[in-house]
Amino acid sequence: MSEVTRHIAIVGCGQLAQMMAQEGKPLGITFSFLAEKGEDAGCVEGLGTIVRLDEAGSGEDLFQALGCPEVITAEREQVDVALLRALQRFCPVYPDPHVFEKAQHRLREKRALTESGLPVAPFMPAQGRDELLNALDKLGYPAFIKSCENGYDGKNQWRVKDAAELQEAIEEAKDLPCVVEASVDFSCEVSLIGARSVSGEVKTYPLTENLHRQGTLLLSKAPYQDEQLLASARAYLQKLMDDWDYVGVLSVECFVTSEGLLVNEIAPRVHNSGHWTLVGADTSQFANHLRAILDMPLGDTECPRPAAMVNMLGVDRAPTGKNEGVWLYGKTLRPGRKMGHVLLVDDSSEELAQRCEAMIADLYQQ
Ligand code: AMP
Repeated sequence: MSEVTRHIAIVGCGQLAQMMAQEGKPLGITFSFLAEKGEDAGCVEGLGTIVRLDEAGSGEDLFQALGCPEVITAEREQVDVALLRALQRFCPVYPDPHVFEKAQHRLREKRALTESGLPVAPFMPAQGRDELLNALDKLGYPAFIKSCENGYDGKNQWRVKDAAELQEAIEEAKDLPCVVEASVDFSCEVSLIGARSVSGEVKTYPLTENLHRQGTLLLSKAPYQDEQLLASARAYLQKLMDDWDYVGVLSVECFVTSEGLLVNEIAPRVHNSGHWTLVGADTSQFANHLRAILDMPLGDTECPRPAAMVNMLGVDRAPTGKNEGVWLYGKTLRPGRKMGHVLLVDDSSEELAQRCEAMIADLYQQ
């Protein structure tokens, strides 16, 4: 019996697309990638056809150039929603474009989370000096001002602790549409990653604890042991999946507060805080995303031993400490850029935490 090749097109050519393609190969899936004009496609070279948006036209021509995929997905939320809708006429796009529309705009995202009944930090929309002053007046210091669009990894984002810092933020934010958020007093940050297939099967990974440095993820450790918080996070994820008729991997990032979880943001894709699943879980988040969008049975998400990931930010030198794998994405080195990550697995969470600390000290020469 001849095997049917399944073909997926991915919008985006970064490390998330790279890891999806690497994990899809053993499943017999082939890939093509859609690159923005001028996008660095180094991460996915050799993994499938790369189609440049400026050369391929749109709609049917683009679908043909991508090799008539069975399904189209994306590795980032900043995608052209109109283009996804045009492509949807030829094959399914998972998750649906309406999810990207929400996730790529902080105000729409916050409103959608609230509409689904998920708890978020108090927030107000604000554009320009007067509205920013008014929002700070209502929400108080400290607060976060975040631009509605093109803000990620702490970019286009200002934490203001007093009127002087607000003045500086006003100068920089100019007329950008923003969301102002009250600062949350949290003990730590966690994320929950889960997958929902076309048929509606849902599986979630354990809660992951995340440490950020200057707004960018540095360290993820799983499992974060708290049954009650896990149950809340699962309920939130399931609610969004149901409300949005979601297909694929969805990630929810939350603050742990004395009153439970507050949702910070969601990502409609495989997530940096789930890279540990490559060695720490029976089925990785990448494989489960592909299984979900192809309507295959989802793989096991059990995490037999504590696992962690240390991001290599502006570092492309392999660490010397014991580890369970170094992923280098093949990018050109730039300060702070995500160049790769290191994975660690251990029998004991305490040992794992110590090894992560040593790994961070080694990578960043602290
Ligand atoms: P974001 O771009 O929203 O993911 O924010 C990046 C990081 O800034 C988060 O992971 C938090 O560490 C911090 N942060 C963002 N918003 C808030 C908030 N409302 N209160 C406290 N910390 C925040």
